[in-house]
Amino acid sequence: MSFKDLQLNRPILRAIAETGYNDPTLVQERTIPAVLNGKDVVVSAQTGTGKTAAFALPILQLLFNTQDAPKGGKKVRALIVSPTRELAIQIEDNFKNYGTHTNLRSTAIYGGTSMEPQIEILKKGVDILIATPGRLLDLHKRDELNLDYVETLVLDEADLMLDMGFIDDVKKIERLCTKDKQVLLFSATIPYKVEQLANSILRDPERIEVNPNSSTSTNINQLLYYVPKRNKIELCIHLLRNTIKGRIIIFRRTKFGVEKLEQTLLKNGYKVASIRGNKSQNLRQEALKDFKSGAANILIATDVAARGIDIDNIDAVINFDLPNVPETYVHRIGRTARAGNIGTSHSFCSADEKSYVKTIQQLIQIQIDIIDDHPYPLDPKQKPIVHKSKKTGSKHKKGRKSKASKQKKKRWY
Ligand code: AMP
Repeated sequence: MSFKDLQLNRPILRAIAETGYNDPTLVQERTIPAVLNGKDVVVSAQTGTGKTAAFALPILQLLFNTQDAPKGGKKVRALIVSPTRELAIQIEDNFKNYGTHTNLRSTAIYGGTSMEPQIEILKKGVDILIATPGRLLDLHKRDELNLDYVETLVLDEADLMLDMGFIDDVKKIERLCTKDKQVLLFSATIPYKVEQLANSILRDPERIEVNPNSSTSTNINQLLYYVPKRNKIELCIHLLRNTIKGRIIIFRRTKFGVEKLEQTLLKNGYKVASIRGNKSQNLRQEALKDFKSGAANILIATDVAARGIDIDNIDAVINFDLPNVPETYVHRIGRTARAGNIGTSHSFCSADEKSYVKTIQQLIQIQIDIIDDHPYPLDPKQKPIVHKSKKTGSKHKKGRKSKASKQKKKRWY
């Protein structure tokens, strides 16, 4: 199928051609016609499938076709809600890019930066608004934002949005828009919470599923290293010195873990950038820029900070900590081997993470290759360390005293 078959109009087709896309991806093939027909959709697709264009292109077309309708200043007619600032910026780049031959205006608003410039842009009028939930509601409360003209509402990365605790905000935002808007929900996975949200705010949605979340690309060489927790850093440096080359993403579970690893790798002379929740917006953008430009070839990230961010040409993914949610493993290693390329994933498993390997393998239905020929093997017989308190019973109750100790005690009476 070609983009022309999707009934997209000239200015949009021109922008697509200039971007260098030949044919629509699967998610675009299925989603674009439904959106152009005014349907609500629930799309289960991960980053890297072309899902942003799957909603951006038809939205631009719908707005372009009817752009003279409301007289006067521009009104927000498409609202895209994104869980993270990085993703919001990325979505806006997409809209700017695909809308370059239209006079539709878009902007992104997000927390962590000053409100004033965002208010200025809103005052001048935009057609398409991309926003994180908190800043969106803030600006609405201050009366700087009118959502009465929203015709299409997109909830992007809905599962992450709910994981981040935005459920009430999302519901509030939905109620602030007009009743008969079109709602497009995109989510990498569709857990029960997302399903419930979809049922409560979408009308007879068309369900589109691409890339079942359990599958990993056959182009990824998946490797597993059993290693004691304390030796993970040594193993990481050993592999970076000898085996893993090119552009690398290292995932850690916590922001503190990211910080610690970044310091160690910097001390060892590696060119490293990092993204984590407790970094300011500017620093995060700078880190991404460094990684994209090649100033740093290693990016260390938490799952939340990296979700939805479009970073191409990754040669290897290192799971420094194994994720406890098996789908997260699929997302992480999906960063490599994009667009038919070959990639490698290296997962470090310490004794206490062995059960995660089991659930990951159950999900992906693949036995991950174990590399035991490395300098820091974990004794295969080693059992997970379970920290048990020696005392049993409530810590508030004093243990029974021995007869001897009772006798020794001097009494005041
Ligand atoms: P997304 O899933 O939206 O994050 O997109 C992932 C990457 O695919 C982005 O770098 C897009 O520029 C790219 N992309 C989107 N649509 C196409 C297409 N039809 N052909 C080639 N690349 C595309």
